[in-house]
Amino acid sequence: MNSFTKEIMQKDKDHFMHPWTIFDVYKTDGALPIETAQGNYLEDTDGNRYLDAVGGLWCNNIGTGRKEMADAIAEQVIKMSYANPFVDMTNVPATLLAAKIAELAPGSLNHVFYSCGGSTAVDTAYRLIQYYQNCRGKHAKKHIISRDMSYHGSTYAAMSIGGKKGDHPAEFDFIDDTIHHITAPKQYGQHEDKSEAEFLNFLLNELEQKILTLGADNVAAFFAEPIMGAGGVIIPPVGYHKKTWEICKKHDVLYVSDEVVTGFGRLGHWFASEDVFDIQPDIIISAKGLTSGYLPLGATIFSDQIWDEISEDGHGRCFAHGFTYSGHPVACAAALKNIEIMEREQLLENVTTLAPYFKAKLETLSDLPIVGDIRGHGFMWCVEFVANKETCELFPEEMDIGKQISNHADAKGLIVRPVVHLNVMSPPLTLNKTEIDFIVNTLRVSIEATLIDLEEQGY
Ligand code: PLP
Repeated sequence: MNSFTKEIMQKDKDHFMHPWTIFDVYKTDGALPIETAQGNYLEDTDGNRYLDAVGGLWCNNIGTGRKEMADAIAEQVIKMSYANPFVDMTNVPATLLAAKIAELAPGSLNHVFYSCGGSTAVDTAYRLIQYYQNCRGKHAKKHIISRDMSYHGSTYAAMSIGGKKGDHPAEFDFIDDTIHHITAPKQYGQHEDKSEAEFLNFLLNELEQKILTLGADNVAAFFAEPIMGAGGVIIPPVGYHKKTWEICKKHDVLYVSDEVVTGFGRLGHWFASEDVFDIQPDIIISAKGLTSGYLPLGATIFSDQIWDEISEDGHGRCFAHGFTYSGHPVACAAALKNIEIMEREQLLENVTTLAPYFKAKLETLSDLPIVGDIRGHGFMWCVEFVANKETCELFPEEMDIGKQISNHADAKGLIVRPVVHLNVMSPPLTLNKTEIDFIVNTLRVSIEATLIDLEEQGY
């Protein structure tokens, strides 16, 4: 470790409190200082190179460090680095991007409200829903239904809507009188006693019963990620999306699809809701891949139906919600260039072409004694580790099995994301076959190395 690495690690421990800080990390080695990122690769301050199979944090869809992106950003900074977002002015990149998003989004989702990232886009949806229901005179329609194990962001409303274990700690306040969580659509290890069809029926019945118990006149919206990301790449049973959407339509409940991870190519389509799962949500939430992480930007994309209702006669009112950086011209210019690159390089097609190969390669890991489940779609995958393959029994959480394996992978030049019992992957959409081979081979040797560690630990 060179002296610069040591200096950065020390200053990091002393001054930079990271999101989701695990304080023990500050007491041990500390964080790995990454200095450069080019394409699909990162390099640390000691010159070690890593394939970033997490794509930053599910966001580097076109890969990092592209000069074309830097030029587009610089050009916009020189032309106009900031624009007041109020309605008596507009800016060219924000307007062009909204029109482009409307072109790419399903059905009548023709309207965009910009925010600074995914969480603020979720909070925007939450407010928009309240506003819309009030404009309709449906003042009682306040209740929101979402799922256990979901993640929708870290602001007050977004975190309340999320249902991940550990994300509702007692020391924080949450909206708990009008937000309700139902069962996550995860069958592996949790609902093994049911067939897929029985599990689907159970989930659908639970949603409908929840709406009926609360009273359809009181339920405003259902929030769902098409595939849960941070909760552990959870793919619902076949038919779940369409059927839950139909239940929502039947009871006049808005369907909100949180595509912060799945949007902009991760599943091989601009949006997964319609193209993969055949539904037309009322609202889609987007961020991350929208700019490929080059600059922060979120978008709440909503339907003509909502727009027509809230804009009709203006209701003499104002939608009292917004951010200094809504429609930031530089972030919007970055998003436009990002989309142009994805289109020109046919990156969505790269995902659909290589996804079956990625899946088949990952499935070769299933002979390993602690590999329980391998699941995913497009370029969004995870391997779930278990102590017992027969019973799906998990390792004790404090063993942090995912982290043990990802530490070995780090040392071999591969970054995967450990999430308790899982290693999660969401690589840039530019990934090629050789890199897929590297990911899977490195995972295999990392798991094998962990098996030796476990034996030494007497497990
Ligand atoms: N929604 C989903 C599905 C996410 O995965 C995330 C972040 O990981 C968010 C919302 C929040 O986005 P952000 O971290 O940009 O606020």
